[in-house]
Amino acid sequence: MRRSMIAGNWKMNKTSEQARSLVQDMLPLINLYKSVDVVVCPPFTSLMVLSAILSGTSIGLGAQDLFWEAAGAFTGEISAGMVKEFCNYVILGHSERRAYFGETDNSVNKKVKAALAAGLSPIVCIGETLAEYESRETAEVVTRQIREGLKDLDPTRLQALIVAYEPVWAIGTGKASSGEGANRVIKDFIRPTLKVLFGDSVAEATRVLYGGSVSASNAPEFFTQPDIDGALVGGASIKLPDFAEIVKAAVK
Ligand code: PEP
Repeated sequence: MRRSMIAGNWKMNKTSEQARSLVQDMLPLINLYKSVDVVVCPPFTSLMVLSAILSGTSIGLGAQDLFWEAAGAFTGEISAGMVKEFCNYVILGHSERRAYFGETDNSVNKKVKAALAAGLSPIVCIGETLAEYESRETAEVVTRQIREGLKDLDPTRLQALIVAYEPVWAIGTGKASSGEGANRVIKDFIRPTLKVLFGDSVAEATRVLYGGSVSASNAPEFFTQPDIDGALVGGASIKLPDFAEIVKAAVK
């Protein structure tokens, strides 16, 4: 039985003071739903302040990226060890990083390995663009992203792995996938590819989230699907009570 998870990707929003205030308002609303793993992923600059507020609460904390090297002359970068000082999760391979910052399946793979080695749970984002969707390349794209992005992982760390299926055409557009459509991609392509790489039990145990314009109103459509284990939420994750409503919808 996979536990439901709702992760909030705050993207480049909120100063640390605004982050503190949002999380303080969020805590009493989220605390009610203990059967769901809830994680917030603010910008790096808020990790320290939020780790202090969230320690001992039911809300987990994640970063939005990291660099694979442990230390050295990499100006502007943050290592897995530095992320692990404050949190337990990290979003990797988000489509915005792939589109604007040159992220590739190969760089995602190095980052996933660094995250797992540091004891972090990587939330690895995959998904096809609108052009790929329209030319019916979804299966090929998500299969390649998993095979390349998740190759040669340490088999002893795979329980920490989380996959987020985020069709790029659904992110921030208000045009979510249908629950059935997203479930089909996960069931027919994502879990079978995980099975090829890691075997049956890992493929069945790995949590796969849906992401792309999830809102308080459409959330139930996703969480009633058997292969969708929760959501990676962007825009609605910094809105209350919307985010709490999405968490509520994920209670099984
Ligand atoms: C995201 O950024 O991962 C995301 C899913 O965004 P939104 O919910 O705003 O579509």
